[in-house]
Amino acid sequence: MEIKRRKSKIIKIGKVSIGGLNPIAIQSMTKIKTSDVERTVRQIKQLESAGCQIVRLAVKDFSDAAALKQIKTKTRIPLVADIHFDYRLAISAIENGADKIRLNPGNIDKPKQIEAVICALKSAGIPLRIGLNSGSLKDLGNRKSSITDKLVASCMNYVRKIEKLKFDKIVISLKANNVLDTVEAYRLMAKACSYPLHLGVTATGSPYNGIIKSSIALGALLLEGIGDTMRVSLTDNPVEEVRAAECILESLGKSHPAVGVISCPTCGRCEVDLINVVKELEAKLAGEKYKQTGDSLKVAVMGCVVNGPGEAKEADLGIAFGKNHGILFSRGKIVKKISVKDSARVLLEEIKARRKKHGSTIAKK
Ligand code: SF4
Repeated sequence: MEIKRRKSKIIKIGKVSIGGLNPIAIQSMTKIKTSDVERTVRQIKQLESAGCQIVRLAVKDFSDAAALKQIKTKTRIPLVADIHFDYRLAISAIENGADKIRLNPGNIDKPKQIEAVICALKSAGIPLRIGLNSGSLKDLGNRKSSITDKLVASCMNYVRKIEKLKFDKIVISLKANNVLDTVEAYRLMAKACSYPLHLGVTATGSPYNGIIKSSIALGALLLEGIGDTMRVSLTDNPVEEVRAAECILESLGKSHPAVGVISCPTCGRCEVDLINVVKELEAKLAGEKYKQTGDSLKVAVMGCVVNGPGEAKEADLGIAFGKNHGILFSRGKIVKKISVKDSARVLLEEIKARRKKHGSTIAKK
């Protein structure tokens, strides 16, 4: 099935182009006070190695804005300054090298303030994200309007003010805290303008809830061709946000992990601890799975002889378990018998050997 992408304007954020037919970019946000440069840089690097392409940082005060200068010299991915309440922080962030500014129309909406920020954005040649959240919406006077109508009306109001200032490097997000309002708001916005859309659901909750809500909302929109960048917001380590986003894109055939692992759910026929084998393998592969190196490996880990040999043979590498041991397959051929306790390690060694042959590397675990 081919997904027809919505035609959106192309915008450059640092070295990353979004919109048009550019790949959907994965974003996340640091969860450390930005002025703590050392820890912030460490987290950005972790995000980058997990596959994050654009990172947003909270700029709460002038020490955060000033810290961007140093952070930029120590990291490689584009930095987005997240600004609320005080427009002067946006100007300071721009002066300190931010690659994009996010403003919230719910708390920065005075014409003179918007004009000052747009003027600084124009001088720096960087884009703006108009980022609305259902939790900080201004009441536009119609209390009966739905959340989606309010999100879209408030956003279009802001867009028009900015277009009047002859600025069009705009990215839009309209995040509600539930799936239905989020999907509807983005659908309406996708029809109302051609600016690229950054997808996300806000305040999703625990990782379990957050991943499910985001997968449904973002999955539905992406299937309709809507969305140019995305973030899976989770109350968790931001690296998990990137992994979840990668999984969503992979499920839609929009990302091809360097190492894709499939495994059966296990059932009463399974005679080994497959759940822990897969957990161990995924942990060993963490951080490497999505590093695009030109080759892509499919690895199958299967619990018994029902579907095991078939899936393991189909994959580049596979293990089909029986009683207390597994049979390792490589490109459809049986290689050897391995014990359960050695299986994750052996698979990792085989993956490393295969990728080394193709000129790529897997970090030593
Ligand atoms: S492959 Fe075997 S163990 Fe796994 S779910 Fe299927 S029948 Fe159960």
